[in-house]
Amino acid sequence: MRRLRHLRAEGNRIVCEGREMVNLSSNDYMGIGADPVLWNEFLSSADRNEFGGGSCSSRLLTGNHPAYASLEKRLAVLYGAESALVFDSGWHANVGLLPALTSSKDLILADKLVHASIIDGIRLSDAECIRYPHGNLERLETLLEKRREDYDNVFIVTESVFSMDGDCADLRRLAELKRKYGAFLYVDEAHAFGVRGKRGLGLAEEQGVIAEIDFLVGTFGKAAASQGAFAVTDDVFREYLVNTMRPLIFSTSLPPVSVRWTEFVVERLTGMESSRRHLERLGERLRERLTTAGLETAGKSQIVPLIVRDNRKAIALSEYLCENGFFVLPIRRPTVPPGGERLRISLTASLTEIQIETLSELCARIGR
Ligand code: PMP
Repeated sequence: MRRLRHLRAEGNRIVCEGREMVNLSSNDYMGIGADPVLWNEFLSSADRNEFGGGSCSSRLLTGNHPAYASLEKRLAVLYGAESALVFDSGWHANVGLLPALTSSKDLILADKLVHASIIDGIRLSDAECIRYPHGNLERLETLLEKRREDYDNVFIVTESVFSMDGDCADLRRLAELKRKYGAFLYVDEAHAFGVRGKRGLGLAEEQGVIAEIDFLVGTFGKAAASQGAFAVTDDVFREYLVNTMRPLIFSTSLPPVSVRWTEFVVERLTGMESSRRHLERLGERLRERLTTAGLETAGKSQIVPLIVRDNRKAIALSEYLCENGFFVLPIRRPTVPPGGERLRISLTASLTEIQIETLSELCARIGR
């Protein structure tokens, strides 16, 4: 049984049921979630009379505070796109976009390991869907070759940095395929926004393909230490979504203070290049140490899986690390397929190389 723990996470520390540990299970990748300097700077620059506690209705009623237009304009400029649209969360985005965009005459081709929110979006859509094996773009091309002509529109759907394996999609190749077969490309950058690319715009920036992505989705609840999500697209699709996307139409919009905080952070994320490089180095070092110790890992990002392929082993290893001061949670089925049980080590830029060394030694001691 899953259970909600009594805990308090602050910066890279967490106190969980009386035990204080280094937090290796947070998505605060830039390490800014509890940065008092940033938060105080925001509070002193904010116009406190501008917002009350909540927005109290959806954006189409009275919840469309000017903070939204400001944030959306900033995102569109950053991405060099016509428009951006902000949502309440990544879940709202993924669960709402595909059902709004697709019809029964369309086909969705999604990577096998896309996030649960995308899967639920697919379930709510009228389109047919085929999941291709994770990262297998040859298989994807075969499907496109065989099936493209049978449908009005085809949507290729992927994450950029995958949340459980920490590996990266080949967005360049996906962009080639979408061009070759006249498909749309939908990319969820939840784990790459703020973290990848020179200005932190994501893996699409790093691979130089922002302009090729028809629906680029990012979330604010991870590296941006806020809440909400966005899609970068064009004016026609934006207007269409405002008229058809159910989570946007029927759910209360974010509190204005939250939207302002997001914009404040987004403005600063672009300049956090040295933190991004530090985080990259931490990931490389941890992977190198785990591999040297004969342990199994994967990927190439701030998410470092320690794959143990057994439920009990994952739990025992997690308990051992917690006892020794590192809060890392086991990931079991059904979150990962049977045999894929692991620890998901989520690194943040506020960690030090010494902490990574200590963690590697602990893993090496009992990991095998
Ligand atoms: N997409 C991916 C890839 C995610 O990992 C998550 C959350 N873990 C989401 C979307 C949902 O985002 P949010 O937490 O903003 O609802």
